[in-house]
Amino acid sequence: MLNCRQATELLCQARDGRLTRLQRLRLRLHVFLCRYCAAMEKNFETLGQLVRTRIGSKEEDQSHDALKNEVLKTLEEQENQGDRDQ
Ligand SMILES: [Zn+2]
Repeated sequence: MLNCRQATELLCQARDGRLTRLQRLRLRLHVFLCRYCAAMEKNFETLGQLVRTRIGSKEEDQSHDALKNEVLKTLEEQENQGDRDQ
């Protein structure tokens, strides 16, 4: 069984499509059983969408700061919702 740190690393790698079939399976199992990592995975999806949106936008000068703020805000919101078991 993965621990949360390993699961988070796999989530990062999954975004780049670098997981083996076995890794993906173990990650899915962990996310299924762990609410914290399930929230984290959702977070990653949101962040990925933000990045794509920003890359497609024309405000390139501001995009880095704006993206950083949005990411921080999203993470904070996620944390405020946090009812972690651990
Ligand atoms: Zn976990």
